[in-house]
Amino acid sequence: MEKIKMTTPLVEMDGDEMTRILWKIIKEELLEPYIDLNTEYYDLGLEYRNETNDQVTIDAANATKKYKVAVKCATITPNAARMEEYHLKEMYKSPNGTIRSMLDGTVFRTPIIVKGIEPCVTNWKKPITLARHAYGDVYKNTEMIIPGPGKVELVYTAEDGTETRELIHNFTGAGVAQGMHNLNDSIESFARSCFSYALSTKQDLWFSTKDTISKKYDHTFKDIFQEIYDTEYKEAFEKAGITYFYTLIDDAVARVMKAEGGFIWACKNYDGDVMSDMVSSAFGSLAMMTSVLVSPNGYFEYEAAHGTVQRHYYKHLKGEETSTNSVATIFAWTGALRKRGELDENPELQKFADCLEQATLNTIENGKMTKDLALITSIANPTVLNSRDFILAIREELKHLYQ
Ligand code: NAP
Ligand code: MG
Repeated sequence: MEKIKMTTPLVEMDGDEMTRILWKIIKEELLEPYIDLNTEYYDLGLEYRNETNDQVTIDAANATKKYKVAVKCATITPNAARMEEYHLKEMYKSPNGTIRSMLDGTVFRTPIIVKGIEPCVTNWKKPITLARHAYGDVYKNTEMIIPGPGKVELVYTAEDGTETRELIHNFTGAGVAQGMHNLNDSIESFARSCFSYALSTKQDLWFSTKDTISKKYDHTFKDIFQEIYDTEYKEAFEKAGITYFYTLIDDAVARVMKAEGGFIWACKNYDGDVMSDMVSSAFGSLAMMTSVLVSPNGYFEYEAAHGTVQRHYYKHLKGEETSTNSVATIFAWTGALRKRGELDENPELQKFADCLEQATLNTIENGKMTKDLALITSIANPTVLNSRDFILAIREELKHLYQ
């Protein structure tokens, strides 16, 4: 069989620990036998980040701007323990944070649904994708402990020196106060990322805030979304047969619990933090969650939502067998390959991505899976495979599906 050709490179960001081991097996066993892989490779493993003073992360983000599609392996975010373990010159920032701020993007997290791994919420039949705004609000707040009676105000000093004041509270005793902010530019980018991702995946978009209580702050979010929708996306949404739907956050929560899924839920920073953990754990497993960073300029970076699975890696280093789930990492590749195929009008590449996803799901539905899934599956007597054998089982399935 002739291998699939790729006209434009895909940006490939390698990573750390157990996911780096899986990365190599996935490429060798599932991708390279079928595709003339055309990638521009960046080694985001911590050793090489340290060697290049993290320049490699910046180069990888710039390459993503150039080629528009990237696939990323999980990477270590250094902490004190890692400083010692890897003899780091400094405590580098999280690569995901660096890339996200360079691409000005929003992260969309989607569970992978497969028969045999049932969500706790029984009416969820299709994935619910969560989009979290990644700038400002309580994550960039300024707080004050108020020790006793006194007045707390918000003061805005314009460039010409004029002051505008709003009373927060006349304290008669001790308490607390906090100031937070957001930027129209950032909210606009968030809105555009959400609308373009909804179009690109042909799913309805929900957005929720607490605008009835927060009549200026949250209402600005609501207004910016509506304005951008009306002027830039309404026509395209109608043509695609999808809708944009705004509702209050508490109403959204109630509706999500009753819904069957199949939509994107955009949330402010804090709501997204909390709701994404709730939705992902209710869907079953962190190892079955994909994540894509979408920039308002149409750059896409695909990855698994989980980390480098450090505990399994140390077992692997000791020569012990591991059963690490590679599904989310495989889906990061298929997401990126399908998007590459769409942009380059390469239907064969898109077909391959579909087949590889189907082969992965079939393997699990046939009862072959890694240990984490075997613990939660409703399939009787599953076969537990080690990290490599699970990928090889997918390859067997792929041989039948893709020809
Ligand atoms: P983790 O790698 O997500 O793993 C936490 C635990 O979840 C594992 O020990 C394992 O449980 C289970 N798990 C996660 N993924 C799994 C998979 N694919 N297959 C089977 N089990 C899986 O989180 P962590 O251990 O807290 O973090 C390790 C490193 O990852 C850290 O250095 C962190 O900075 C980094 N990280 C990177 C990213 C990213 O690049 N996007 C995201 C998060 C964390 P059991 O041990 O019980 O089997
Ligand atoms: Mg959280």
